[in-house]
Amino acid sequence: MKYISRRSFLKGLAALSLLGLSGCASTYALEEDKMPGQEKFQPPVLEVKPVDYDYLLTGGTIVDGTGSEPYQGNIAIKENKIVGIGHFVPGQGGEIIDIEGLTVAPGFIDLHTHTERYLAQNGRAEMMLLQGVTTHIGGNCGTSEDSIGKYFDGLGAIGINIGLLAGLKTIRMNVAGTKDILTKKELEAMKELVAEAMEEGAFGLSVGLQYWPQIYTTTEEVIELCKVVADYGGFYSTHIRNEEDYVIPSVEEAIKIGFEAGVPVEYSHIKTAQRRNWGKMSRVLELVEEAYVKGLDITADVYGYEFSSLDVGQGRSSISEDDMITALKHPLVMVGSDSGLKTNGSASHPRAYGNHPRILGRYVREKEVISLAECIKKMTSQPARRLGLHDRGLLQEGNIADIAVFDFEQIIDKAERYSPNHYSEGIKHVFVNGKQAVKDGQVTGVLAGQVLKHRKG
Ligand SMILES: [Zn+2]
Repeated sequence: MKYISRRSFLKGLAALSLLGLSGCASTYALEEDKMPGQEKFQPPVLEVKPVDYDYLLTGGTIVDGTGSEPYQGNIAIKENKIVGIGHFVPGQGGEIIDIEGLTVAPGFIDLHTHTERYLAQNGRAEMMLLQGVTTHIGGNCGTSEDSIGKYFDGLGAIGINIGLLAGLKTIRMNVAGTKDILTKKELEAMKELVAEAMEEGAFGLSVGLQYWPQIYTTTEEVIELCKVVADYGGFYSTHIRNEEDYVIPSVEEAIKIGFEAGVPVEYSHIKTAQRRNWGKMSRVLELVEEAYVKGLDITADVYGYEFSSLDVGQGRSSISEDDMITALKHPLVMVGSDSGLKTNGSASHPRAYGNHPRILGRYVREKEVISLAECIKKMTSQPARRLGLHDRGLLQEGNIADIAVFDFEQIIDKAERYSPNHYSEGIKHVFVNGKQAVKDGQVTGVLAGQVLKHRKG
């Protein structure tokens, strides 16, 4: 058979479809290959419907977010949806983008961030888009907006999608200031505020039990608040009570809260902080796994740095790289950046500009600690499942077209510990709700992000 390249084959198919000839299927049989007595096989005539598109991404390596093996294929985008994937006959179209040699994945969903104030001031979100990130969930570690509804109402155009959690600190301070012991009435008032936030679209309740005044909140109080979250089908996002010497009992507390409130648990920025606790990660993960096997919907998230925001200026590490890698490899652990940004867009920790490309470049490509398909799953379908986003996080027909195209050979973070405000490299194209937000490595200025609200069910 005469060799034809994938691209000329596709062009041929596109031309055929323009002529209305694409519905034909050829029949053939080689006489000399027939077995004695074999009937001549007639392939059925297939109806091939050409797929019209706004954008056709051709020849990319598709990593679809499920964790299954990458494969070559095309992707068609029409309006805000993925309308074709893999092998299909392109129909009438807008723009064809050749992505041969590049990897195409669902846009990354970062479920652990502190960027909602920044996004309210400056919606361009270049540092996120240039990491391939298309969704941020803010309001973590207990600090959130006073009113989630008002925040969403006041939000201008933004470059990425945003969803929020309700924060324990915010709710507690609104009801009881910095008091240590709550009255029953105050706890009831807090439950009301949790319910209100859930009604307004919060994905769940976040806590930072290590921080004042959240440290005063008892396990029983958190259980009471989480029962409200569970009624709405939300989840409990926990910065646990102690990430250092008492990491084990703190994980046990998070698990107890999950079981007793009947609420799914997201264990935030999993770590075993301070040198004397290095090596405890395997035990921490055993606890998480035991709880999961017993029926608790528990997952964790990790960022790709050995130092936290508290360590960044101190020149020290909080977690060992070995423990961080052990966490990253675990199937119940996904990727979350813990990004924070000032309203002018500057960050004190490099993760806000570099987390996802850093993990892909350093830990997948260079150190090969997990496969590319596994890593993409941790950045896409795993957080989507946690958030209950049924139409994002996977490249499949009918899903919303949040898409990241990158050069896996080049992708890398440029933000550094003492110079954290540098864009990452290697992201080539990004689509947010079907609109092109990054083109040939440059932010287009198109602000196509949407507010994502949790809906029960
Ligand atoms: Zn935290």
